[in-house]
Amino acid sequence: MSKFEQTKTCTNKPLRFATAAIHAGQEADPVTGALITPIYQTATYVLEELGKNRGYQYARTHNPTRTALEQCIAALENAKYGLASASGLAAASTVLNLLSAGDHVICGEDVYGGVYRLFERVFKRYNVSFTYVNARNVGEIERAVQPNTKLVWLESPTNPLLRLADLQAVSEITRHHNLIFVVDNTFATPYFQRPLELGADIVVHSTTKYISGHSDVIGGAIVTSNDALYEDLKFYQNAVGAVPGPFDCFLILRGAKTLSARLREHERNATAIAAFLEEHPSIETVYYPGLKSHPQHDLAKKQMSGFGGVVSCVVKGGLEAARDVVNGTQLFQLAESLGGVKSLICHPASMTHAPIPKEVREHCGIVDGLIRLSVGLEDAEDLIEDLEAVLPKANTASVKGEKKEVVHAG
Ligand SMILES: *Cc1c(COP(=O)(O)O)cnc(C)c1O
Repeated sequence: MSKFEQTKTCTNKPLRFATAAIHAGQEADPVTGALITPIYQTATYVLEELGKNRGYQYARTHNPTRTALEQCIAALENAKYGLASASGLAAASTVLNLLSAGDHVICGEDVYGGVYRLFERVFKRYNVSFTYVNARNVGEIERAVQPNTKLVWLESPTNPLLRLADLQAVSEITRHHNLIFVVDNTFATPYFQRPLELGADIVVHSTTKYISGHSDVIGGAIVTSNDALYEDLKFYQNAVGAVPGPFDCFLILRGAKTLSARLREHERNATAIAAFLEEHPSIETVYYPGLKSHPQHDLAKKQMSGFGGVVSCVVKGGLEAARDVVNGTQLFQLAESLGGVKSLICHPASMTHAPIPKEVREHCGIVDGLIRLSVGLEDAEDLIEDLEAVLPKANTASVKGEKKEVVHAG
């Protein structure tokens, strides 16, 4: 019997999403009856006698608070197994531990900057090679397959341009070539998209974002339904040791309980803000998969049940204008990260995507005027007023910027 089956749920039928978020892996504590999974703050566990434990031996390997979180996230992704890690990047590293020197990875060209850095600055040194592709074009993925390709790593929607990959179409290619298909599902969350159901083999999360949802903890997760992959990943989780502490697991599990309620509101606010920005004269482009103008809106409707809480836009006037906006907002706080109750604003080119060389960045559309909004759970009207107050200034700056260019051209 797998760990997952041992303590699955209090009922025997599969739980629907919101119910699973609150109940999966979270039966009352068997020792005390505590309603909420306690923080098992212990490094080790006493054996009943030599060779006989109660399923827990040493806390890097297992911790009951972590087990509850792992089972909950697995249930949300409709997966057999879940593994929690110390951060989203720890989850990514653990997955990359599946590879050996000489292996090749195909990766979406606009993945999270820290993932790109992990691949280029760490795993490349171990002679793992990477090809970056425009994952909107499935053919480009297939053309990048080499005899030594082992894994395909995609985000959908991507950060920060909210571009989509057709996950089902990609999974047909990865299955045909016997590749491990990994999807970073941080942006969509399992509430809006479940990549395993679309053919992915592994899903990774930065639980720092929507799953914990309150910007108060760093964490990551890996889920899979593949027995062999799970055994390997579980081995690397323990062997490498990048595990989250029990208090962090508790916080993430507390956040996860309200995932569906929060995500509905994040989406409602994001939709209102995307519509506002689309009408605004200082804005050149708005990126939000829920907009009819999004070039992959139909794909979004097909593979997602909602469009999330991140909206990106390009402000007219380039770097100068973008700087005025991100420095000017009062409610939208200038910070990296996303997915929390408080709205955040960020400038990807100089913040989250700074590790990516400028030519690569601009080639992927991460231009200097690009701003990313993580729309929080405040009142949408307040958020719109916050943006409205700073955007006209950006418009003036853009006029100044254009004039300057004319002078140079002359
Ligand atoms: C934040 C993020 C990560 C990295 O997660 P950490 O928890 O910060 O290590 C990976 N992928 C995406 C899409 C992210 O947003």
